[in-house]
Amino acid sequence: MSGDVGWAFNHSYTSLPESFYVRISPVAVRAPNVVIINHSLAESLGLDFSLLSTEAIARLFSGNVLPENAQPIAQAYAGHQFGGFTMLGDGRAILVGEQLTPAGNRFDIQFKGSGRTPFSRRGDGRAALGPMLREYIISEAMFALGIPSTRSLAVVTTGETVFREEPLPGAILTRVASSHIRVGTFEYAARFKDEFSVKVLADYAIQRHYPGLRDAENPYLAFLKSVIDRQASLVAQWLLVGFIHGVMNTDNMAISGETIDFGPCAFMDEFDPQTVFSSIDQHGRYAYHNQPHAAQWNLARFAETLLPLLNPVHEKALALAEEAVHGFSDLFQQYWLAGMRKKLGLLTEEVEDIELIEKLLDCMRKHRMDYTNTFRALSTKILPEHSMFLDSAFVSWHKQWQARLARQSESEQSVFSLMQANNPVILARNHRVEAALVAASKHGDYAVMNRLLAALVDPYSDAVQYRDYQMPPSASERVCQTFCGT
Ligand code: AMP
Ligand code: MG
Repeated sequence: MSGDVGWAFNHSYTSLPESFYVRISPVAVRAPNVVIINHSLAESLGLDFSLLSTEAIARLFSGNVLPENAQPIAQAYAGHQFGGFTMLGDGRAILVGEQLTPAGNRFDIQFKGSGRTPFSRRGDGRAALGPMLREYIISEAMFALGIPSTRSLAVVTTGETVFREEPLPGAILTRVASSHIRVGTFEYAARFKDEFSVKVLADYAIQRHYPGLRDAENPYLAFLKSVIDRQASLVAQWLLVGFIHGVMNTDNMAISGETIDFGPCAFMDEFDPQTVFSSIDQHGRYAYHNQPHAAQWNLARFAETLLPLLNPVHEKALALAEEAVHGFSDLFQQYWLAGMRKKLGLLTEEVEDIELIEKLLDCMRKHRMDYTNTFRALSTKILPEHSMFLDSAFVSWHKQWQARLARQSESEQSVFSLMQANNPVILARNHRVEAALVAASKHGDYAVMNRLLAALVDPYSDAVQYRDYQMPPSASERVCQTFCGT
């Protein structure tokens, strides 16, 4: 089968010491059925499923029949969950292999929901259809927005029931990631293994994600700084589109800088920095505006694991790590500010820009304005009728913004183009995602999801046929909580 499809597997992760993984196959499922296949992603991976029968595709993505050269493993990792350290690992995921693409890139192909592993603890190793489709929809939406993210290649149902609060249809998601090395993988090596294991893992991660750093004067410090930089950029991009990850535990932070693990995540409708969707985040640890702090906290945990590699003298290592982790704040601020300038059509830099941005956000918060639609409204010539636009604070802000725009020489056209390329029109709004999941999970109707996915492919274009996705939820449609994907 593998020849037809185009699998080009390599298994570099198994070159790590054996303590980093366990060899294990997916547990077969009763009656697999294909729900969705991402053909455009498949193509970019050098894969083509068009010659396979639907049954063969179902057998493949359920793990019932593995590609010939697969070497399935479950990865070991640990992590801080809501501040508490614990041993974790792939409790319901299996890495089938690393696909080498025609463009020369390497991507993990991982099944999620494929049965118990030695890391399952009390879990059943399975996943429910709703959460797997949520991951599919939102990871693909992130990709289309241009935000680094793991991606989704397929979802199949298993023909088995999983029991959460209620019986639900079981499913398996095939996740594609530039790797699954997490901050938690380093924590595992540092806490449960030894300095040598951390070094081997760091060398592997540098080789895989930051090969340019191998020759740096202090490659491990350069590595730490690069991971911090990518995370600062990533979290800034989340905030710029109103994304709330929901479970920023250290095991859900990828060394590659990709968004990973789409549990109770969601995009915010009304602008409120305190927004939390996750039902398990009682204290707002991972609320919208706390995300940069949470990221920095995680990166401090990451830095701790690298201490022995940074400098043989502990105090010196600590000073280097602290400086690097502190640097996150400035980096984040720079990325965020650069992104906000684009959202407001500012092509030059003025010191007062921050104040201008804060003033707008304050107005939006006070009037509970829709985050996405407000920025988009500013990106077009005519402001829609809304009480906020009549408020004296907004009117004075608008004058200030117009005056600011007038101080740059760029044409009105280039300002609007910049804004329209940086202010999405169509997001995976929570109520539309919920509607798609309910239709699929409860009624076996995938049309709602497929139409949503089609709209999300081009989030910056104001397509007439998808205008309904621009509507914020009505009071009855509003989703206040999303639940963890377990
Ligand atoms: P998550 O909350 O998805 O980041 O997962 C945290 C940990 O719980 C990871 O080690 C997962 O592998 C594990 N886990 C989550 N759901 C299950 C499940 N149904 N069965 C076994 N392990 C699970
Ligand atoms: Mg996770």
